Amino acid sequence: MIIVGAGPAGLTAGIFARSRRLETLILDAGKAGGQLVFLYPTKLIHDYPSYIRIGASDLAKLMVTHAKEQGCTINEDEEVVGLERKEESCLVKTSKGEYEGKTVILAIGMGLFEPRRLGALGEDKYHGNGVYYRIPCAEDFEDKRVLFVGGGDTALEMALSLESIAKEVILIHRKDVFRAMEENVENVEASKINVMFRTELKEIQGNECVNRVVVFNNETEEDTTIDVDAVVINIGFSPNLAKATEWGIELDEKGKHIPVDASMRTSIEGVFACGDIVMYPGKDKRIVTGCGEGATAAISAYKYIKKPYWA
Ligand SMILES: Cc1cc2nc3c(=O)[nH]c(=O)nc-3n(C[C@H](O)[C@H](O)[C@H](O)COP(=O)(O)OP(=O)(O)OC[C@H]3O[C@@H](n4cnc5c(N)ncnc54)[C@H](O)[C@@H]3O)c2cc1C
Repeated sequence: MIIVGAGPAGLTAGIFARSRRLETLILDAGKAGGQLVFLYPTKLIHDYPSYIRIGASDLAKLMVTHAKEQGCTINEDEEVVGLERKEESCLVKTSKGEYEGKTVILAIGMGLFEPRRLGALGEDKYHGNGVYYRIPCAEDFEDKRVLFVGGGDTALEMALSLESIAKEVILIHRKDVFRAMEENVENVEASKINVMFRTELKEIQGNECVNRVVVFNNETEEDTTIDVDAVVINIGFSPNLAKATEWGIELDEKGKHIPVDASMRTSIEGVFACGDIVMYPGKDKRIVTGCGEGATAAISAYKYIKKPYWA
């Protein structure tokens, strides 16, 4: 079995595949652990059953260790660039070589993590020098004044994760209400975070690095200049599925997800999918749901290989 993506969904699929003693290769374009290590390693996770709270990178490390202990081979820094259905197998082409599997599970999350850009003046100029789309290391923001942009769970959770580290955290949102889980909204309300609703980022200014921003209140139509050291933009990620289209997989009408049935089957025989990349009625993008789908995908793939399946 070849699993593309070593996030929670792919790693869980690997653990289940190995319990059926399938030879299992997991390929990841980056580091194993998915979004937990790439996007929010220092954030605490409160909704993964049995861990009342656990750091994202610690949870990812445990999942990777579990998959390896079960006997999965995990190749990091190896991007899958092609997928071809053969008569009896699937050929997977990567940045480093080719592999043939009896079945493939696509667990590619949001693709290769392309954050949505805001398009504010100065955003491109200061990218990497004060403008960020993720928080790789919370300590880098120690004693800094940080402005977050966004009103969804990602923005709120990232802002909360820096509240006790940064000198000041400001959160601006263009609407007058957050689009986030009640728990996150409550935590922000109870925090010291300075929330500015109906506010949009107009311009990022500075010299070598970011020094200040100009924000625009879309209700009063007034501009305000605020001194900040960093801007973190969290307005979502654009799934990059250009390659999946070339692989011949049917996507949903927006071209952003892979529709699956209850067995996690895709439109290509022998190819299954799980995690953030899939869509079905009632789908929710969480770690625990991705893990559940990973288990289902692995069991379905096992049954597919073992045709006729009886045990
Ligand atoms: C800021 C933030 C906070 C969150 N907090 C929580 C939380 O507290 N609790 C919760 O349950 N969920 C949370 N989530 C959601 C959760 O992270 C995702 O639902 C989960 O990571 C999905 O897992 P996945 O395995 O489907 O995908 P991912 O974690 O995205 O992993 C996919 C992997 O596939 C790899 N990949 C992609 N394309 C290729 C390719 N072509 N070749 C090889 N590899 C490829 C990527 O490198 C990546 O490692 C949060 C999300 C964000 C952004």
